[in-house]
Amino acid sequence: MTIRKYKDLVERRTKQTLQEWSEQSVVKEKDIYRFLHNLKGTAGTVGLKAVEDLADSTMLFFSDKSLKEWSVEEWGDYLYPFLTIFDESHKALMISENHPGGAGFSSANPQHEILVIEDDVELVAYLKESLERQSYFVSIALSAERGLKIFYERKPDLILLDILLPDQSGIEVLNQIIGKAKKERIPIIIISGEHSKEIQMNAYSLGVMDYVPKPIDIDLFLTLIRNRFELKNEWQKSIIVDELTGAFNRKHFNQTMKQLMSDYKRTNRTFSLAMIDLDYFKKVNDTYGHLIGDEVLQSFAEEVQNSIRAEDSFCRYGGEEFALFLPNTYAASALMVIQRIQERFSSREFYAKNETFHVTFSCGIAEITNPEEDANNLVWEADQALYASKHNGRNLTTLYNDHLSANKTESILNVIIVDDDPLIRRIVTSHFSAWVPANKSRVNTSSYSNGLDFLHSDWYSVNEKYIILLDGVMPDLDGIEVLERIRDKYPAVNILVIMLTGRKNQADIVYALQTGADDYVIKPFHMKELLLRIERLALRFLF
Ligand code: GH3
Ligand code: MG
Ligand code: MG
Ligand code: MG
Repeated sequence: MTIRKYKDLVERRTKQTLQEWSEQSVVKEKDIYRFLHNLKGTAGTVGLKAVEDLADSTMLFFSDKSLKEWSVEEWGDYLYPFLTIFDESHKALMISENHPGGAGFSSANPQHEILVIEDDVELVAYLKESLERQSYFVSIALSAERGLKIFYERKPDLILLDILLPDQSGIEVLNQIIGKAKKERIPIIIISGEHSKEIQMNAYSLGVMDYVPKPIDIDLFLTLIRNRFELKNEWQKSIIVDELTGAFNRKHFNQTMKQLMSDYKRTNRTFSLAMIDLDYFKKVNDTYGHLIGDEVLQSFAEEVQNSIRAEDSFCRYGGEEFALFLPNTYAASALMVIQRIQERFSSREFYAKNETFHVTFSCGIAEITNPEEDANNLVWEADQALYASKHNGRNLTTLYNDHLSANKTESILNVIIVDDDPLIRRIVTSHFSAWVPANKSRVNTSSYSNGLDFLHSDWYSVNEKYIILLDGVMPDLDGIEVLERIRDKYPAVNILVIMLTGRKNQADIVYALQTGADDYVIKPFHMKELLLRIERLALRFLF
């Protein structure tokens, strides 16, 4: 036999074992250990270095002395990467490093989000992978237009910007975002093959701090990024006011919450929390542009500041969501305060594109009632009430009460996996059925083994939200085509799509992003990382 055949044999046997195990209810830990031990030896012998390394680092998690029995949900996360590691042997390095047992994975970074605006797909994929290995969260824009959209919608913590882009030049993009980026201390790093003095001067004089020439030295680059984040963190520690609106920021929100909670425990002095979200704000941005959107936010903040007492704390909770603390105030009185603001604000006239328009907001109020209550729960109650206001037509304020909690305002999040590999379907669905998202939506999981079955099923319902994981390559109708139909027929706002793809399919990745995929994940992936990514992506979308 040739060495190639031995390799195939190892691959087939590995897959077969995993398949068999997935049909059993549990597997003994010592069997897993032996499997890895043997695989390491054989793989090394036949020259499958990547498999050998992965087996070696995975073995650390198992012992041949243990009597534990592992369910598929448990072992799947560790062994699943073996299913695809054979496919592309050149991936060797990345996989062993990406593995939690490996060297590269660092959980030290508090999930900073980096936006990459760059049209060179090879470079994008390389950057995404390198940055994700450092635990950064990466969003990608292959065009200036998409970059601007993500800049406003996702609020990245740092931006990597290319100069030569298909639709506009990076300098034009810079012109549009530098003001806001400076205010909010979002570092912008230019990465460019074009480094004439003139362009660099231009970028620097607009306020860019870093101009990095291509080709990029990744070690230097990652260190530079880390420095920029350190600086930003220092700055963030020192401020409590949001630059755009003048409201307190999220950090101050947390401090105030803590203070009021402990006051309440000590003195039984009550307080109310109002959570506020502007109505149809995306439409304001889409119709009149983000600058006008910003003006609306400022004007809203001004209206609130003019209407509250000195002891109240008004905070920007994130994006176009705000929170108002009203100390010594029962919910019923808080309601009157908010309704007055609601009336005044909704009658404000805004002017843009030769027309006038009005903006409203929805609100939910919760009052502290129990010294044992924790902060998250109070926010959750106010959010539930806010959700009810949205549900009942917007421009409303709702008080949280027990009736509401028992009611049908519960939101539903559907996680759908479309993949022809039964093991992946099984692992993903079992992980997600145990998932409780930040907003405590009810999670329903379902899976399909091919695109057609999925599309022909009766999967969509207007008031629910969806996270769809789509395998890129499937037998009859592949993931890209399924994606096209989803984006073509259903409203994008409620549907998050993540492509699962092999690294070979570079062209597919580009096309998927252009067609409206929100992210892509390279197989093999680790369930825990995937979950983190999804939690992060879903953050805005869930509320
Ligand atoms: P809903 O009534 O259901 O709340 O609809 P909506 O369109 O307001 O939906 P959602 O609350 O999800 O939309 C938030 C939008 O707010 C997304 C983002 O584009 C926009 N946004 C968030 N922060 C900013 C900002 O600082 N400036 C601008 N201009 N827009 C922002
Ligand atoms: Mg370019
Ligand atoms: Mg919102
Ligand atoms: Mg809104």
